[in-house]
Amino acid sequence: MEILKAIRGFDDILLEEAKKFRVITNTFRNLFEVYNFEEIILPIVEYKELFDRSVGEITDIVQKEMFVFEDKSHRVLALRPEGTAGVVRAIVEHGLLYKHPTLKLFYEGSMFRYERPQTGRKRQFNQIGAEVFGVEDPIADFETIKLCFEAFNKLSIDIILEINSIGCPKCRPKYKEALVNYLHSIGGLCEDCNVRKEKNPLRVLDCKVETCKELIKEAPVMLDYLCEECDTHYKSLKTYLKEFNIPYIENPRLVRGLDYYTKTVFEFIKDGLTVLAGGRYDYLVESLRGPHTPAVGFAAGIERIMLYINEIPQKPLYALVYLEEAKIYALKLANSLRQDGLKVEIITRGTNLKKKLEIANKIGASYTIIIGPEEIRKNVYILKDMNKKEQKEIPFSFS
Ligand code: ATP
Ligand code: MG
Repeated sequence: MEILKAIRGFDDILLEEAKKFRVITNTFRNLFEVYNFEEIILPIVEYKELFDRSVGEITDIVQKEMFVFEDKSHRVLALRPEGTAGVVRAIVEHGLLYKHPTLKLFYEGSMFRYERPQTGRKRQFNQIGAEVFGVEDPIADFETIKLCFEAFNKLSIDIILEINSIGCPKCRPKYKEALVNYLHSIGGLCEDCNVRKEKNPLRVLDCKVETCKELIKEAPVMLDYLCEECDTHYKSLKTYLKEFNIPYIENPRLVRGLDYYTKTVFEFIKDGLTVLAGGRYDYLVESLRGPHTPAVGFAAGIERIMLYINEIPQKPLYALVYLEEAKIYALKLANSLRQDGLKVEIITRGTNLKKKLEIANKIGASYTIIIGPEEIRKNVYILKDMNKKEQKEIPFSFS
């Protein structure tokens, strides 16, 4: 019988990779703490309709990438493809916005998209993200971007920040008209874009097909159509970024693959791959029947950030080798050292001292502690430095 394998696109995250994963989530979590965000833990499955109504029906996510299924009661459900929709559903459902006029939440968890698996693109992947509700002021956009910038700094990842404004329901229709006119005046768009240009023209700007990318270079840009309110908002954000020396590139063709964004959109990009993306979405809460609530947020792809994490510094490992007569003492010694915060592995295999030392070497111990009846009598243990190949007696007794 063949061994069972994981499903394509649903990858295991093993050992060293899992460490990288935790370094990333801990970095963001520490920042969430000092920026006063609270955690929200949400279900993985939602009604499909939630994503139709928030992410938008004419988007790649909803049209092509969702894992949709019917349960035994014939309800049409979906594995969540992103986090924001669920967060908004939850805060509206529980009336949180009435109790907390400004609400800052973060989440972490698996998302699911039926995409062609490749580097940085999986079918189950993990995001860590945050949302700020109730702040119209661009200070919220700034603080959100600042937090992300700090995270990449702490992770020592040199990254490019791109920003843009995609306007609001007041100014976007005029731009859409100009864009549609342009798109009708040219030929050569891909099949998907020919549909998009009728149903959701902004999506054309996000097309990944090379020929479309070329054609889009000449398209009109939203920045030329911003209303005064959006323009001022965008300029303030840029002022704050400059004030804090956060380098950014204005990309007037940056749009997001989801419908709910307004005003600010941004992406953190490394080697052409977007590792973190976000923006403002001032009308999503009301479109899901909540009170009018401006909002801004982001989601970082943890696996994509993992591609840029090198080595994780490790705590030195102490291997504890004992002679059979000293077994109980060895257990107690290990316990005591661990209570002092040392990383200790008791070597249980190996028939003699030489074999045990070989095992200690194999598991990458920096130090080996050796203990036998003689050491117990003298109230010491032997500490062997595995790199320097030196050893010395360390006085020890249980207090
Ligand atoms: P892309 O344009 O690369 O498809 P996207 O616009 O679909 O990205 P978002 O929906 O904004 O991505 O998701 C935010 C982040 O989640 C991305 O920047 C990326 O880091 C990560 N992400 C999205 N899809 C995947 C995937 N299939 N596998 C791994 N990470 C992903
Ligand atoms: Mg995508």
